[in-house]
This record gives sequence, C-alpha cells and structure tokens, in this order.
Amino acid sequence: MSNESTISGRLYAVRDSLPQGVTLVAVSKFHPEAQLLEAYSAGQRVFGESHVQELVRKHEQLPSDIQWHFIGHLQTNKVKYIVPFVSMIEAVDSWRLLTEIEKHAARACRVIPVLLELHVAQEQTKYGWSVDELRSMFASGEWRRLGHVSIDGLMAMASFTDDKEQVRREFSTARALFEELKSTYFAEEEHFSRCSWGMSDDYPIAVECGSNMVRIGTRIFGSRGY
Ligand SMILES: *Cc1c(COP(=O)(O)O)cnc(C)c1O
Repeated sequence: MSNESTISGRLYAVRDSLPQGVTLVAVSKFHPEAQLLEAYSAGQRVFGESHVQELVRKHEQLPSDIQWHFIGHLQTNKVKYIVPFVSMIEAVDSWRLLTEIEKHAARACRVIPVLLELHVAQEQTKYGWSVDELRSMFASGEWRRLGHVSIDGLMAMASFTDDKEQVRREFSTARALFEELKSTYFAEEEHFSRCSWGMSDDYPIAVECGSNMVRIGTRIFGSRGY
C-alpha cells in the first residue's frame, strides 16, 4: 500500500489506477518547485503548467529531462517564451495561435507537438474549437503547410458537473471526432494518437472514453488554494 499522505504516495496511487498506455501529466501549476521535485524523485517526468511565467521559472530551476506540457490558454504574444523548450502545447484553441506557434517554432528550428482543444463543455467560458470548426479547419487543408507543428491529437475538458452521464457524453464526442479525423487525415500517421482528457475528478470516465493522456493536479499535489 502506498502512503497517500505524501506526494509520491498519491502519485503512485494515481499511476496504479491508470491502464498501460495512458500518459500521466502531473499538473503542478501554483505548486512550488520542491513539490515538483518530490514527484520527480518518484519518477515523474511529464509536468503540466498553465501560466507562462511560472513555467519559464520552473523550467530554469528544475531538472532538464522534465517534459513540460503547456496546458492552459496561451496568448499569442507569449508563445515565444516557451517554444524553445516545451514538449507539448496541449490547448491550441485557434488558428491564429497555431500559426503563431508555427512561426516561432520555425525560428527555433523545432517541431512542436500540439493538441487541438475541442470545446465540448456546456460552459461558455471554456476555450476551444467546436466540432464543426475543427472539421472545416481540417477540410481547408491549410494545416498541411505547417512544417513546425506536429498535430498529435485532441484535448478536451468536460463540463464542471456532478452529472457523470453528461461528462461521459462529452468525452465520447471528443473520442468520436478523434476517430473521424484520424481515419480521414492521419490514417498513415502514427503521431496523431493523443486523446488528452480527464482531470482529478473525472479521469476514470475519461479513460473509459478513450483518453490516453490525463492531466491530474489536485489528486497528486493537493488543493491549490486559490
Ligand atoms: C488545472 C488543470 C488540470 C488539473 O486539474 P485538477 O482538477 O487539479 O486535476 C487539468 N487540465 C487543465 C487544462 C488545467 O488547467
């Protein structure tokens, strides 16, 4: 039994609950470097952050083999600060942001793995493309000219609700669109393989609905106190 009063104990418990092939992104936003190091010492290498300044600071201070995922809403004028080192930008929510990443990645001679954020929740405030917007973005074909971003899959967040069936419907919508895009545009391309949905409270449902990348903060690091 792991000791769930420590970060490493909770990390092991979360890991044990995940099927093989599901990547755990430890969401460390607002938590101090020492806590990230505790997770790092327990073997965790993929961390998620949602604020640019905080991510840059942590990247400078923490071990260089950490894979940083930017998971928040990214303003186009801040892309340049993270492009040199980030492993994945998970919540690309507009064509403008995608092309801005392309531009800075080209300058940095990098190819940045990205996920496109699908809006499936009921809340108006959440960012992301609708199903139809993503379909027409792909149909336009312009994305094929972007040589410095690798579109690796979709990211989604469910509604903030206790209604598990609704959460399930939303994640299932995301999975269905992923399958459709995969077979239409990426059938031969292995990199389009990522389904990032599921957070502390809904990740078991997310995994049942085909997620292979979960972003978990509170359950590992405790509450963020904001
Ligand atoms: C904060 C955050 C998470 C983690 O949420 P928890 O409920 O703490 O697990 C996951 N995804 C995104 C995009 C976030 O901003």
